[in-house]
Amino acid sequence: MSELKKYKKKLKKAEQRILLLEDMVETHTRELYLKNSVLERTNSEMEQFAYIASHDLQEPLRVLCSFVELLDKSYRGRLDPNADLYLHYIADSTKHLQNLIRGLLDFSRLGKLEDSISTDCNLVVNKILNELECLIKRKKAIVTYDHLPRVDVNAFEFQILLKNLISNGIKFSRPDTNPQVHISAEKKSNMWEFKIQDNGIGIDSKHYQRIFLIFQRLHSRVDHEGSGIGLAYCKKIVALHGGEIWVKSLENMGSEFYFTIPSTN
Ligand code: ADP
Repeated sequence: MSELKKYKKKLKKAEQRILLLEDMVETHTRELYLKNSVLERTNSEMEQFAYIASHDLQEPLRVLCSFVELLDKSYRGRLDPNADLYLHYIADSTKHLQNLIRGLLDFSRLGKLEDSISTDCNLVVNKILNELECLIKRKKAIVTYDHLPRVDVNAFEFQILLKNLISNGIKFSRPDTNPQVHISAEKKSNMWEFKIQDNGIGIDSKHYQRIFLIFQRLHSRVDHEGSGIGLAYCKKIVALHGGEIWVKSLENMGSEFYFTIPSTN
């Protein structure tokens, strides 16, 4: 067989292989597209369910709360001591349930608010520190920050994100240690990588993923106040902005929470 014929045969084989590969890519793309639309539909159904459930649960719970309050006011000290204690537990649990349901409702509403605007992160942190003044004073915390960038974000959601991370850094402090929280940001290719560092109780690496799930907490409400929804908010807000969030931590040494936000310059 002449060299030309051999070459033509090889070329034909290569062309057939390319056609086969193109076919496979097309089939996989179609499958991915289908799976994606099923996922999108499931996701939106879940969000709708969370919204409707939490919205409709609010009303009967409000009635329950009012009557428990009324019962407590009218009968405290007039029943036996056990009854007072039971009333206290009922009131505490209904308030907690109300917080959880409000949290779930807010969670399902994330991403449905106004669009992104250019936001100066220094101003956002300043505002958050004003709002957290009581907690900062009570815990004798020191919160510092480097000069932070301007980013295109939904300002309302971005503030919730930073506030949750900063307040967690103050809240989860070691006994007998003044909480110290530092906020910084570093440009990494086309993203800004934010870091919120604390000197608190830290997190065991086996919980690094779990803490970002809704209602997951590592501590009882007696030790540290909270509803276990803050980091789930953070994860959803970062994802809505096209970024990622993760934690690096050592128990009793402190934690570093990182998240990325696309940079616009
Ligand atoms: P909440 O603060 O309401 O408990 P989060 O979703 O913000 O809920 O946090 C989930 C859990 O992750 C907390 O209960 C806590 O156990 C752990 N955690 C979060 N941030 C920190 C931190 N900075 N240091 C140590 N543990 C933390």
